[in-house]
Amino acid sequence: MHALATHSKNNHPHLRPIGMPCGWIEVVVGSMFSGKSQELIRRVRLAGIARQKVQTFNSALDTRYGKNHIISHDQVKVPSFAAKTAKEILQNVEEDTQVVGIDEVHFFGEAIVGVCETLADQGRRVIAAGLDQDYKGEPFVATSRLMAVSEFVTKNLAICIVCGNPANRSQRLSHTRKRISVGAADKYEARCRRCFQR
Ligand SMILES: [Zn+2]
Repeated sequence: MHALATHSKNNHPHLRPIGMPCGWIEVVVGSMFSGKSQELIRRVRLAGIARQKVQTFNSALDTRYGKNHIISHDQVKVPSFAAKTAKEILQNVEEDTQVVGIDEVHFFGEAIVGVCETLADQGRRVIAAGLDQDYKGEPFVATSRLMAVSEFVTKNLAICIVCGNPANRSQRLSHTRKRISVGAADKYEARCRRCFQR
């Protein structure tokens, strides 16, 4: 970052000098059904097309689609390593990996923030997707902190299933009180702030 700010010879200080790898963090947040995983998958696939070395991780807690891949709601699939902890992600990123995708970051707790920062500090591009709010509309601390330290934030909105307005909340339809309850269309609905019921 230092080199690009001041001593650029070409009068384009925003251009990264060749041979100076600088990582960064991109965060994609939103409610259920806002297309977060789809956006993560789109970005990692584009990197793959550009022949960059990509590794994708998801949480072992996310059992929706089986292990070893992530799938968006529209059934696009990419290979993925199911990690039990944030640390396990760090341990499994290979030396020459340039792009690290992590889905459902809120499952990993606050430890995921340090892991993403370490990977970016090593010069890698980190793409992290996850819920920003739980089923009560309370922010997830891990996602909030990641948004604060990241370079890029994309906030996706779904469409409220009740009224059709932009939706940023995930309405839980079952009665479980667990903060994390894995599921999709059978357990949650996207709702706007007016239609969301706490
Ligand atoms: Zn609504």
